Amino acid sequence: MKCSRCSKEAVLTQSYSGLSLCGTHAAADIEAKARKELRQKGGLPSGSRVFVEEDNTYRTFALRIFLGNLLAKRTDVLFVKSPEEAGLILDACTLDDAALYVLESVCAGTQDLLVTTGDGRISPLSVIPADEVCWYAERHGFSGEKTVSRTDAAEFLETFRTGHPAASYALKNVGDALKKENK
Ligand SMILES: [Zn+2]
Repeated sequence: MKCSRCSKEAVLTQSYSGLSLCGTHAAADIEAKARKELRQKGGLPSGSRVFVEEDNTYRTFALRIFLGNLLAKRTDVLFVKSPEEAGLILDACTLDDAALYVLESVCAGTQDLLVTTGDGRISPLSVIPADEVCWYAERHGFSGEKTVSRTDAAEFLETFRTGHPAASYALKNVGDALKKENK
């Protein structure tokens, strides 16, 4: 299958967008979405003291590659070693993680937890499916295992998504809307 944006062979197909993308365009698409999410949540203002949560998985690996590319020409953002020193925390939560958090909170009756300000924490990769985040990490040299959540809710979402490709986005949007409600 050919890339929807050029004549190269596609390496990634997005069922939710109908696009097939070559390596270059898939990486550009992922980075553009993550940049937009970061910007919409307040971005990295000059002088920011940033802590990156580390979980030793493909997700943090991908987040670090993304930040490295994004900040290559900026010297006004300082990365700190502990959350206490930081004004902003970045975590490597993917779209699947964000969707699952909303679904599990509702199923467990703990939906009150969703109504938070969300201030001080941004998940730039939370608009990108875990499969694509993993692909992006592997493209940049990650060779570890891809860990997946095996809870009942995760399996339900996985099955439901085959017929409803945008379901994860819908759940994440509910979570974002509840955060805004609280402001
Ligand atoms: Zn292409």
